[in-house]
Amino acid sequence: MRCKKCPHRAAIKLPQHNISLCKDCLTEFVHAQVARAIKSQKMFTPDNRILVAVSGGKDSLALWAILLKLGYRADALYVDLGIGNYSIQSRQKVEHFNETVAQPLGATLHIHTLAENEGAGVKELATMMHRPTCAACGTMKRYHFNRMALQKDYDVMATGHNLDDEAARLLGNVLRWQTDFLEKQTPALPASLDGFAKKVKPLYRLSEREMAAYAVINKISYIVDECPMAKGSKMLVYKEVLNRLETESPGTKQAFYWNFLDKHAKAQTDSGTIASHDRQRLTPCQTCSQPTSMAICTYCKMMAKARAHV
Ligand code: AMP
Ligand code: ZN
Repeated sequence: MRCKKCPHRAAIKLPQHNISLCKDCLTEFVHAQVARAIKSQKMFTPDNRILVAVSGGKDSLALWAILLKLGYRADALYVDLGIGNYSIQSRQKVEHFNETVAQPLGATLHIHTLAENEGAGVKELATMMHRPTCAACGTMKRYHFNRMALQKDYDVMATGHNLDDEAARLLGNVLRWQTDFLEKQTPALPASLDGFAKKVKPLYRLSEREMAAYAVINKISYIVDECPMAKGSKMLVYKEVLNRLETESPGTKQAFYWNFLDKHAKAQTDSGTIASHDRQRLTPCQTCSQPTSMAICTYCKMMAKARAHV
């Protein structure tokens, strides 16, 4: 099998695009898709300072690598959640990538460790708060991503969510018709005046398989295991279902999410609406000053519960 773009042997077949590509052309293809995502969604410019949230997984490390290769000013934040061996290994992957690739290019890695700052790992904190671990984890991560972006004056925060992540989330939201959440499912959420940093997902045009191939071809060492807390999660079921559909008719995932984005963009233009992100009335949290729709933010309420338990 030959590469569609050059005489080399193909390394991967992409049925949804009806092409096969060699290693170099796959790398070029991924870079082009990211560049297109950044431009078409007006994510950021070369002058902006970007904070990439890196988990040690293939997507976020590849994203950091790609942004640096494309010449962007990208630093990163790793939140050490203290989930046993999983966190130890993912932190090692992030630190290794930082030392070998990012630092030599002048980038900085920030690390926030829950055990040091919040007094315990996310599993223990969740138990003390009587919250499901994944819900507590989501709150912690979102809180620290936003806080670090604002405190250190980054223009935008980027995560490694790929097409499979976004299509699975869309399926979950549609199945329950959670229209409030649909509003926020765009790859670029603007900063709000009240203190939410701008958030972008530059990998939304690329599938999990394409990102895995990119990471392997470009010798990015990443943690392969899923978070042990995510076992049996609904998201994994939605991904499986979408993969079955994708095998039957290549391009389904892409059509599902991209067509949603087209319709969403059109609906906004037609009605002149501003994203609900901007419309919400937010005030500084009375405890930590981060933006919240309540007097005390969810993070501070959760931490107060956890402290009461100690
Ligand atoms: P996940 O929800 O685990 O699929 O992660 C989605 C995205 O969130 C990743 O691509 C990263 O950008 C970010 N992320 C997840 N976990 C962490 C973490 N512990 N520290 C920093 N960023 C993270
Ligand atoms: Zn707070």
